[in-house]
Amino acid sequence: MNVNQSAAPVPPFGQPQPIYPGYHQSNYGGQPGTTAPPTSYGAYNGPVPGYQQTLPQGVSRAPPSSGAPPVSTAQATCGQTAYGQFGQGDVQNGPSSTVQMQRLPGSQPFGSPLAPVVSQPAVLQPYGPPPTSAQVTAQLAGMQISGAMAPAPPPSGLGYGPPMSLASASGSFPNSGPYGSYPQGQAPPLSQAQGHQGVQPPQRSAPPLASSFTPPASGVPRMPSMTSPLLPGQGFGGPPVSQPNHVSSPPPQALPPGPQVTGPPGPPPPMHSSQQPGYQLQQNGSFGPTRGPQPNYGSPYPGAPTFGSQPGPPQPLPPKRLDPDAIPSPIQVIEDDRNNRGSEPFVTGVRGQVPPLVTTSFLVKDQGNASPRYIRCTSYNIPCTSDMAKQAQVPLAAVIKPLARLPPEEASPYVVDHGESGPLRCNRCKAYMCPFMQFIEGGRRFQCCFCSCINDVPPQYFQHLDHTGKRVDAYDRPELSLGSYEFLATVDYCKNNKFPSPPAFIFMIDVSYNAIRTGLVRLLCEELKSLLDYLPREGGAEESAIRVGFVTYNKVLHFYNVKSSLAQPQMMVVSDVADMFVPLLDGFLVNVNESRAVITSLLDQIPEMFADTRETETVFAPVIQAGMEALKAAECAGKLFLFHTSLPIAEAPGKLKNRDDRKLINTDKEKTLFQPQTGAYQTLAKECVAQGCCVDLFLFPNQYVDVATLSVVPQLTGGSVYKYACFQVENDQERFLSDLRRDVQKVVGFDAVMRVRTSTGIRAVDFFGAFYMSNTTDVELAGLDGDKTVTVEFKHDDRLNEESGALLQCALLYTSCAGQRRLRIHNLALNCCTLLADLYRNCETDTLINYMAKFAYRGVLNSPVKSVRDTLITQCAQILACYRKNCASPSSAGQLILPECMKLLPVYLNCVLKSDVLQPGAEVTTDDRAYVRQLVTSMDVAETNVFFYPRLLPLTKSPIESTTEPPAIRASEERLSNGDIYLLENGLNLFLWVGASVQQGVVQSLFNVPSFSQITSGLSVLPVLDNPLSKKVRGLIDSLRAQRSRYMKLIVVKQEDKLEMLFKHFLVEDKSLSGGASYVDFLCHMHKEIRQLLS
Ligand SMILES: [Zn+2]
Repeated sequence: MNVNQSAAPVPPFGQPQPIYPGYHQSNYGGQPGTTAPPTSYGAYNGPVPGYQQTLPQGVSRAPPSSGAPPVSTAQATCGQTAYGQFGQGDVQNGPSSTVQMQRLPGSQPFGSPLAPVVSQPAVLQPYGPPPTSAQVTAQLAGMQISGAMAPAPPPSGLGYGPPMSLASASGSFPNSGPYGSYPQGQAPPLSQAQGHQGVQPPQRSAPPLASSFTPPASGVPRMPSMTSPLLPGQGFGGPPVSQPNHVSSPPPQALPPGPQVTGPPGPPPPMHSSQQPGYQLQQNGSFGPTRGPQPNYGSPYPGAPTFGSQPGPPQPLPPKRLDPDAIPSPIQVIEDDRNNRGSEPFVTGVRGQVPPLVTTSFLVKDQGNASPRYIRCTSYNIPCTSDMAKQAQVPLAAVIKPLARLPPEEASPYVVDHGESGPLRCNRCKAYMCPFMQFIEGGRRFQCCFCSCINDVPPQYFQHLDHTGKRVDAYDRPELSLGSYEFLATVDYCKNNKFPSPPAFIFMIDVSYNAIRTGLVRLLCEELKSLLDYLPREGGAEESAIRVGFVTYNKVLHFYNVKSSLAQPQMMVVSDVADMFVPLLDGFLVNVNESRAVITSLLDQIPEMFADTRETETVFAPVIQAGMEALKAAECAGKLFLFHTSLPIAEAPGKLKNRDDRKLINTDKEKTLFQPQTGAYQTLAKECVAQGCCVDLFLFPNQYVDVATLSVVPQLTGGSVYKYACFQVENDQERFLSDLRRDVQKVVGFDAVMRVRTSTGIRAVDFFGAFYMSNTTDVELAGLDGDKTVTVEFKHDDRLNEESGALLQCALLYTSCAGQRRLRIHNLALNCCTLLADLYRNCETDTLINYMAKFAYRGVLNSPVKSVRDTLITQCAQILACYRKNCASPSSAGQLILPECMKLLPVYLNCVLKSDVLQPGAEVTTDDRAYVRQLVTSMDVAETNVFFYPRLLPLTKSPIESTTEPPAIRASEERLSNGDIYLLENGLNLFLWVGASVQQGVVQSLFNVPSFSQITSGLSVLPVLDNPLSKKVRGLIDSLRAQRSRYMKLIVVKQEDKLEMLFKHFLVEDKSLSGGASYVDFLCHMHKEIRQLLS
């Protein structure tokens, strides 16, 4: 980035870390002292002749008060070739002669180096002695799993008996609660259960954790599993049980041409179905549970169980079906963590502590390590060697949110000002002073904790040490005692060695026919009038330092002069979109308060000016180009807010064609749907990054707009994309305005570079998120807000040491909203281990899933979606097999044993696998997939957690007086009762599901109609009624919305209504219509994969 920093006398940032012996990446900087090549941005500060020569070219005139859209009179005649051929195919879209961005060869702007696809066979040699009783294993009754899988019987009958305690646990859930209406006759056949117990010693003797498996999930009583015996094979291949609510269940043939399934594709003939009373009962009336037989399952996976053709002796007893209550429950894990860790603050003083889950609300006390709000790791205990890491296959990654917003109870990082000398750094690796630096020689020197280099302490920083070797002023200095803090940057850290100007916001509004017709333009202009008073400001500043500018466009661009001295705004039209320039400098970017009257007048006039437009075509790239040029001319960083409606088909650079093709799904060409259709936007994005121009895109499409291409610039500039399909003011304005308000007001760091330094032995090798990289170490962010994360993967390049552990330091150099140049530093110390069990004890599954989802979502750009899914499954199986082989206590092969802190890995991974990007349903559009793909790329751990496993809250079960959020239940249809109402949210969507038998009083209180049938399906606003239930539900909805970074529009769904299909898509424990496995089946499949790896 801002590579110009390299011109600073002492290159302050961006030094390669010197001591690493070049991690087999040829262009990985290895030598100390190498400054970033100044030539890489040769044109960065150069004049842009096109701009200068044409100033001011536009015809200046007052905007028409109404009537026809402006005629494109102004002609740019500057004759520059800059950008001239932009948009006519990849070849011609290269950099122009004047604004050329010379990137390092090899730099990959989009989806930087893809880590090797991991699918190596697990080498499962025991690594060290198996841990002792301290190990945490989660056990499933072998009989259940193997029964459902049952390709071959377990080694002996032993594996078949249900553990005693499980049986008793089952027995402790009599037919009560919502399922209480089941006839008593369906209780488990006692003798059978006892028979099983007779051959199976209790498995529950395994230490501590068995208990975490058998309890009923969140207190929802269920039919005992013993009542639903399944015959061999039925777990996978049984006949489809009618699922009344499912609109359609794809026939097996409809599945993608999958891998060979050795067993018969269809289900084996139903046998003894009359002997499965319990199973059928679980149909629960009209609620067809989807955990029943799943004829399609198996085909997505290579080497699926050879079901129905298994050799071996006949099963002596019908195996039991896996009880959903006996498998790890996300709800239970979340609940337990809340109970165990929610009350105490998380104190960061101890190295390698695993923080509470993201779903637990807790306070953080910074005592030397960065708060988990800033950094979360997949594991807090890293294997000492790369061999060990390869064996375990656990990705080592950190999800970093450098500017995370904190709860009011926690203080923002202190700002340290070292004056002209700037922050103290290691001379060799350039790491910043932090609590882990070791002061020696009485305090005159310090040894770098990252590279071991000995540095002199400058006289002005000298301080004596106490008897423990600690500086006596350690607790007076944030950089010596805290995990996170900021330094004021000196001029050496600034572009062109000049302190930056405050940033600017430019609002760029599509005024084509679609935008006018829907009322969008009028709504937006009205909103901006007040929203401009809420631009981000710093500390106690009276007013925001941010200046604003306005552009409207369709096929041509209209710039507005809103200088405070004008009586009326002036419009300048630029119709030569092939050669974009900014027709005015003075009066384009203004202070809101000074120009308020002119701005208000402009915003009043814009909707009128274009009211009768018939222009349907739009341009897109020239709009971004114009905004970026305007910032360049004003010599500041900033943000463009683009409001855009259609595929840019007008003749211009970046012109696109409709290339949507659903037939590509499940083919090798599917990846092209995620790739941009032209390289033009990447080129443009690079220019934006160089200027510190972040682009936020608000899309209002009625049809395909090619989100994959349009989102390239936002993605590479650290911006956000919002999408409001088929926007209608009456239905969508609340959502749009809420997102807009939040987006405009949020604090942003501009023109930023992030570097992650590590102690010897590991290094950052891969990065995921919304940013640009022109080399292998510096993450360049034109803008970075408090919602965005950067995920960093680490690999070994040497042996780590248990004693010294491993250190990360994330340094973010950025320009604040007020134009102050700062460095934010986060430090984190991790443990290192020589025992695999220590790794498995200190993992965090939510973070693992965040990483794996991002890895997979990037993978679809280059690989067939199916192979991406297979890679995930293989990796997950290897992780779990390695644990089983090396860490778990010996037990029957029929048992699935999961590490305690990874017991949710299968359920969460399954959610990723069947997400819209990796396994789209028929209703998911190409744009939806591209949209979600780029959203997930910068999600934090809490967001991916709820996005992949939605929260389902029963509203009418808890007492109405209760003020706390109702406890969530598992996302499965069989957990729903048709007498209740539920909320479901995943951070983007919010549903209110109404059961068909809900009491009329409840319906009246909530919807103000007398009966279920009169509730409007698809309703998005609940009536405001003065009764406790209505208040409670609306309050809960507000509180859920407040917890998320985007406004969730409510959709009311009635049981058995058409819309219900949409809702069921989010019941992720069930089999999905697009062929995604149910949790139970996926767990069985995972178990089989693990067993294959172990055998
Ligand atoms: Zn160093």
